[in-house]
Amino acid sequence: MKSPADMKVIQIEITNACPKRCSNCTRFCGHHKEPFFMDFETFQQAVDSMRGFKGIVGIMGGEPTIHPQFEKFVRYYREHIGYDDFSTACYEPTADFVKHILANAYNVDYSNQRGLWTSVNPRYYDHFELIQDTFGYQLVNDHTHPSMHETMMCTRKELGVADDEWVKLRDNCWVQNLWSASITPKGAFYCEIAAAMDATLGGPGGWKIEPGWWKRTPADFADQLHWCEMCSAALPMPKRNANEEVDDVSPVWREKLIQIDSPKLRKGLVNEFSPAAYNRNEHEVICEATPYLEDQERRIGAAGKTLKPRRIVSVAWLTGAIPGEEAARILDSLKAAKRLDFVVSSEVAHRELAEAAGVPFLDATGRNGGEVYAELRERGKAKDWILLLRDCAPPEKTLELLQSCVFNPGCIYRQRSGGGSPRGIQFFNVRAHALEKGGDLFHIADGYPARKVVKLAAGEPSQYRLNAGRMFYRRAMKRVYWAQKRIGRKLGGAAAAGL
Ligand code: SF4
Ligand code: SF4
Repeated sequence: MKSPADMKVIQIEITNACPKRCSNCTRFCGHHKEPFFMDFETFQQAVDSMRGFKGIVGIMGGEPTIHPQFEKFVRYYREHIGYDDFSTACYEPTADFVKHILANAYNVDYSNQRGLWTSVNPRYYDHFELIQDTFGYQLVNDHTHPSMHETMMCTRKELGVADDEWVKLRDNCWVQNLWSASITPKGAFYCEIAAAMDATLGGPGGWKIEPGWWKRTPADFADQLHWCEMCSAALPMPKRNANEEVDDVSPVWREKLIQIDSPKLRKGLVNEFSPAAYNRNEHEVICEATPYLEDQERRIGAAGKTLKPRRIVSVAWLTGAIPGEEAARILDSLKAAKRLDFVVSSEVAHRELAEAAGVPFLDATGRNGGEVYAELRERGKAKDWILLLRDCAPPEKTLELLQSCVFNPGCIYRQRSGGGSPRGIQFFNVRAHALEKGGDLFHIADGYPARKVVKLAAGEPSQYRLNAGRMFYRRAMKRVYWAQKRIGRKLGGAAAAGL
């Protein structure tokens, strides 16, 4: 076993609620009659207690993004843990989000000390901008593809594992050695599975959440090691595909689940595992950090669709710079592409064209862009993406791009028609922090920080794919970047100390 101080990650578990019900979940999701949601005061204590820890402080669940105060929590966390480093953020469009994560934000050795563990549910999308701005490390897994989860709900005594052998196995437990210590509303724990058991089975709680709790060493764990006696993670045990949603439990555990009136047990999603039929030679002791998944690129399946733009309000912005015939051609072409929800203009002729096309008209005459933007939001019931087309109809490939890539709702994407012309498209999301207080439709990019104003290339969506070569290059560059960052921070620290 190791001291939490020597771990790469320590988790703050803000909820053990999760919409999914994976087999053999390490948080025992589905067995809680009342899942917990950490309160803000406890979260502050947890964050403050981690001052001085050199690794990643993770935000985890259950599914952490469904916590109703997720945004408030993350803002506090961002002020007190690690530092902003936008190099891992998803700002560029990406046709393969999981590859973006694997190439940019999936290396526990190089990070800004902030990490998020998530199954990428719709609330992840709601917080997409904040998540990208904050977390240098993201462990994503939507469990669409098979992942094999080992059962932890069995006791070594039921399997007849003798004391001397057990102590060696326990002390080599892959979870405690390769994963994390953790904090729940019930205190701090030497191991995340012990913490989850305590929360599920009504345990006595952990250590007080106070500065430096994580400096304890294995010699200080004695008062919590009783949880290992309930756990089979350190033993060679059977695994099951997470998507089957069935837990394998021993008779002792089944009794415990009856005592807590487990909803998952009542639903019949529990398979009683027979210790008499157990043959340890059929299984292996785990000794790697991600034994559940062979192909890391299969971490996201169905969830990928929820991240791509689905609700787009398309607006033709016609100025006096184009003649009537061209304006008519633009509207025809947008209508044919089913990309025409509004026409905005201050020209009478354009109003007539909009009426002829049967499309609502937003009159810009004598009004500023803020007023027109507010009207567009209200009449268009715009809650997500807006495609603003100034004096142009975009090429088919651009429209294809908008549907096949993940875009960050906090960014604005621009594509000019060329030749220094102001014609072109702007693609933005009404949820952007930059538009929190409204926006000026005719100067919509003005409120965005420069890093979030992204040039959209013309051409094939494939240019936003990460093939193996590009992945390798990005990873290599990332390593160089983090190495420079580390040296810079060390030198900065030495300079600050007057050395
Ligand atoms: S997504 Fe994660 S937390 Fe949710 S049930 Fe599955 S394994 Fe458990
Ligand atoms: S045996 Fe279970 S409780 Fe003990 S360290 Fe391993 S995972 Fe944690």
